[in-house]
Amino acid sequence: MSEAYDYDLFVIGGGSGGVRAGRLAAGLGKRVGIAEEYRFGGTCVIRGCVPKKLFVYASQFGKAFEDSAGFGWRAGPAEFDWPTLVANKDTEVARLEALYRRGLENNGAEIFESRAVFEGPHEIHLLGQGRTVSAERILVATGGVANQLESLPGHQHCITSNETFHLESLPKAIVIYGGGYIAVEFACIFAGLGVTTTLIYRGDHILRGFDHDVSGLVQETMIKRGVRVILNRHFTEVEASGIFGRRVKLDDGTVIDCETVMLAAGRLPYTAGLGLEKAGVETGHKGEIKVDPYSRSSVPFILAVGDVTDRMALTPVAIHEAMCLIETEFRDNPTSPDHELVPTAVFSQPEIGTVGLPEYAACMEYERLNIFLARFTPMKNTLAGRDEKMVMKIIVDADNDRVIGVHIAGPEAGEMAQTLAIALKMGATKADFDRTMALHPTAAEELVTMYQPSYRIVNGERVD
Ligand code: NDP
Repeated sequence: MSEAYDYDLFVIGGGSGGVRAGRLAAGLGKRVGIAEEYRFGGTCVIRGCVPKKLFVYASQFGKAFEDSAGFGWRAGPAEFDWPTLVANKDTEVARLEALYRRGLENNGAEIFESRAVFEGPHEIHLLGQGRTVSAERILVATGGVANQLESLPGHQHCITSNETFHLESLPKAIVIYGGGYIAVEFACIFAGLGVTTTLIYRGDHILRGFDHDVSGLVQETMIKRGVRVILNRHFTEVEASGIFGRRVKLDDGTVIDCETVMLAAGRLPYTAGLGLEKAGVETGHKGEIKVDPYSRSSVPFILAVGDVTDRMALTPVAIHEAMCLIETEFRDNPTSPDHELVPTAVFSQPEIGTVGLPEYAACMEYERLNIFLARFTPMKNTLAGRDEKMVMKIIVDADNDRVIGVHIAGPEAGEMAQTLAIALKMGATKADFDRTMALHPTAAEELVTMYQPSYRIVNGERVD
């Protein structure tokens, strides 16, 4: 490492990817600096996965109280207190943030609570400190920001998921714009907490990109649970007016009044104002840093991981990319991140857990497919009297029996997807699933007891 620079590695961004890289490099004895302009932990810990999942848990109790009656419970009237949830969530987020910082400090990384921007290819200006430092390698791990839809008239009257975590009070009615992960998860959270919830999506089917059987079940269940889902519609304007304070206008002339309007129209790589042009780093049309398979930008000593690269906006992926980068840059072991068969969950209600290709994508890649599909009532819903189904789908390459996708919507689907991902990574065949003993009584046993295909697909055409 060259003494010509202040640091061997300077990390911009204290989220999951940046902190992991900084911590590992410092642990190897490298001189590491890391700058974060807001709070350590990034989107996942501060305003994403962690607080969101805590809100998901909170939103499930109402239905659990209702369901308990079928199991003999007579609970009194339940009351929910939003400020308690927000305060307890803040405590947990602060605890995790402290762990992130401690991991860096214990390994000897130098922390800067400051915005950092490029002043040159090796030079970083720390705005909060009014000084410039130099580094042999620089890692950009600035993550993403919510798309504020700035061309939408009245967008300034809307919030994004960021603000939901700090609302002073729970709105009585909310309108959410979008049909992806965040829109669907928050629609379920708010509906579960008793908020009158409307979801407006421009497409004809929420959760584009997911297998249609699982996204279909989620959409159907959300509607059963009282979410008003309006498809094929666009916002044309949001006004600060109407009896509740916000008025949403749609492209067919529909007007909806509510207290809160949440935009969930995707996230964009956070590179604005970073000064990447001063370092000669190339970006793509969304502002993402273009990287090679080793997370190197167009300037080889400037690296990037996580959402800022717009590869797969998932926390474990950012962490994995960071770990690979450390192997490549500091352990003389070139390692490129593996983005194949990444399991993912949508914490909707019901939850989605998925790994591998959805049916529509498998049809484009494979000539002959066997599809195994089960739709059933989860056991707990029977006594609860809850008319909600669960769905499981296994997609198999008929030419070699390999399982290429598993898609689940229902209780604990995310937990199942994590373990299924191990089997798929190992190249499991449908015969491997079939010779695995069922674990009874579980919902997951269905995955190993679907012996006959529900239908076959040949050259993209369904043949029953
Ligand atoms: P998504 O990409 O999942 O969804 C964005 C939604 O916004 C889509 O429905 C999209 O429509 C719609 N949209 C995009 N642009 C516009 C526009 N100009 N006008 C109207 N609608 C628009 O993004 P999210 O923001 O929900 O989440 C960002 C990423 O964060 C996810 O992709 C995921 O990787 C990650 N994430 C993961 C979670 C998890 O693991 N559980 C939870 C939350 C986020 P269309 O489909 O038509 O393009």
